[in-house]
Amino acid sequence: MTQQFASDNYAGICPEAWQAMAEANTGHASAYGNDPWTARASEAFRTLFDTQCEVFFAFNGTAANSLALASLCQSYHSVICADAAHVETDECGAPEFFSNGSKLLVAHTADGKLTPAHIEEIVAKRTDIHYPKPRVVTITQPTETGLVYTVDEVKAISAVCRQLGLSLHMDGSRFANACASLGCHPADITWKAGVDVLCFGGTKNGMAVSEAVLFFNPAQAVDFDYRCKQAGQLASKMRFLSAPWASMLENGAWLRNAEHANTCARALADRIQQVPGLELLGYPQANGVFIKLSEPQQEALRARGWQFYTFIGGGARFMFAWDSDPTRIDALVNDLTAVVAS
Ligand SMILES: *Cc1c(COP(=O)(O)O)cnc(C)c1O
Repeated sequence: MTQQFASDNYAGICPEAWQAMAEANTGHASAYGNDPWTARASEAFRTLFDTQCEVFFAFNGTAANSLALASLCQSYHSVICADAAHVETDECGAPEFFSNGSKLLVAHTADGKLTPAHIEEIVAKRTDIHYPKPRVVTITQPTETGLVYTVDEVKAISAVCRQLGLSLHMDGSRFANACASLGCHPADITWKAGVDVLCFGGTKNGMAVSEAVLFFNPAQAVDFDYRCKQAGQLASKMRFLSAPWASMLENGAWLRNAEHANTCARALADRIQQVPGLELLGYPQANGVFIKLSEPQQEALRARGWQFYTFIGGGARFMFAWDSDPTRIDALVNDLTAVVAS
């Protein structure tokens, strides 16, 4: 199909990831992660994050998030998240399933972003034995609504977590886009800001299939390999998940891809702002643009061949990826302009 901006995972595999898989595809290698590429990728994460984190790989974000959360709680514990959180809205109950019942406690947020006040309110609401005990907070960076938590915002959340005895998990399915947006060192927005576990998305960053789970507190990683295996997430030909990471972390493609996607989002937003009758729901902070469109306008845009989601973050969502083509952005602007003018 012609290029669409419905989701960043409509894009294919970026050349760096493809080449890394091809290079790993020579001869035989030990299975289940006992191969040189997996060792190299794990080391590349430790270098990038400047710490001795424990590194695991899963096939997708649902598994990475669910297994990470399950490893941080017992079945009678609960996990605090925002109402827009992917773990709540788009994982089919997998976090509850893989944790054997740990309940998600959902904060009603204004914009999909969790605050210290939300966490305090949920924890204070009930302290009796009849309620699942809060044990983990999960935040999405950037959020499903396209917002980026600043370093100070993450620090404020982790301070409350420490005070209340909660672990802090970060769903970073677009973590690279957040780093590109903030221009900060990956360590500054994760372990140095109090994040215990990060799910770092590779798929939306240009890989075929791979999400990394990083434990900054090694004690919490104990037996995580067994958890992955039991959940069907231990790749036997692991090198094809890990080789793209090794290459893209070493050569900087992870950040370049995210920068390109973020730049495309800003380019669309800048042009939308020039079109009378079109309104952004907010200026993009990462690789997503959310535009206010009436139902008839959405229909007219779809009739012109465009695919987009409207159930995430309100408005029509356009997501950009490593391969987003400026001429397709021009075409989208032209069609949007025509739709609002008619
Ligand atoms: C895409 C996405 C994921 C991962 O989804 P999978 O389809 O399971 O790979 C996780 N969290 C967020 C916020 C996402 O947008």
